[in-house]
Amino acid sequence: MAEVLVYVDHLDGAVRKPTLELLTLARRLGDPVAVALGAGAADTAATLAEHGAVKVLTADAPEFADYLVVPKVDALQAAYDAVSPVAVLVPSSAEGKEIAARLAVRIGSGLITDAIDLTADAKGPVATQSVFAAAYTTNSRITQGTPVITVKPNSAPVEPAAVAGAVEELAVTFGSAATGTKVVARTPRESTGRPELTEAAIVVSGGRGVNGAENFAIIEALADSLGAAVGASRAAVDAGWYPHSNQVGQTGKSVSPQLYIASGISGAIQHRAGMQTSKTIVAVNKDAEAPIFDLVDYGIVGDLFQVVPQLTEAIKARKG
Ligand code: FAD
Repeated sequence: MAEVLVYVDHLDGAVRKPTLELLTLARRLGDPVAVALGAGAADTAATLAEHGAVKVLTADAPEFADYLVVPKVDALQAAYDAVSPVAVLVPSSAEGKEIAARLAVRIGSGLITDAIDLTADAKGPVATQSVFAAAYTTNSRITQGTPVITVKPNSAPVEPAAVAGAVEELAVTFGSAATGTKVVARTPRESTGRPELTEAAIVVSGGRGVNGAENFAIIEALADSLGAAVGASRAAVDAGWYPHSNQVGQTGKSVSPQLYIASGISGAIQHRAGMQTSKTIVAVNKDAEAPIFDLVDYGIVGDLFQVVPQLTEAIKARKG
């Protein structure tokens, strides 16, 4: 059967959820062959095999940690040369998109980024993207070379499919460009204990209606009752109430969770651009005419200072 290369996003051997989602999609196209690089790469093998990777190619070298993406592109290209896959799938993180783009240029292939679904027909993979602030979806096919496609988090379910995966060490020769940009310092972000915004299954966001940094505690309490990430509109970020790293929208992050709860957010097109592909959308807004109500699955017309704490209490009570 045809093989599909899947680039593995992991932290010291712990495979991140978007990679497991990629394995679900890869199985629609062929047999997934995973490429895991850097410290802990070999530790990813069992999890990847449990999710359908027939083979895991691993490589570890100081270059992966000390330099930016080029060493990883060298390794992914080595895997590509070894496997001759029918497609290459990469998680749609900032790093993943850079790796995918560089690989596509090197192998003379077309590239599709930020796919939200993947199917296959007789001519190969067809990628679905959400475009023009999510007003349209497009289905595209790559017509030149081996398709290189990045896929957004939460685009597919994680489906275990245990196989007896083989593990092979990948021989990588780094080109001169690999060490062209060196990492000089890494500062870990202060942990909130909440899931990463772009990967979270549930996102709870607040906007200008939250009316102050201190009031975001209400949004955070609802998020914590659901195990969710916290998002914010640009108005809330520009006011200094919440960090830009949590901004959802055209000039912030794109999220596509199972559930998105927007409180005190009007639903401007630039905000919608970052959340409209969420599976279920709930809004709390005191203005029944707010544009956000045009795209919600469930709308609550009311004061967020009453509704959100009630929601939090109700969820906590359900969980016992
Ligand atoms: P508002 O539009 O002011 O809406 C606040 C809402 O809260 C209102 O609907 C109001 O009825 C409701 N409300 C008030 N009080 C309460 C209460 N007590 N209870 C319930 N509801 C209440 N925006 C983004 O979000 N993300 C982006 O990435 C982004 N990028 C942009 C890029 C460009 C180039 C431009 C021009 C704009 C961008 N914007 C972005 C800004 C966007 O146009 C809107 O200005 C912004 O999204 C508005 O944020 P908001 O909905 O929080 O505020």
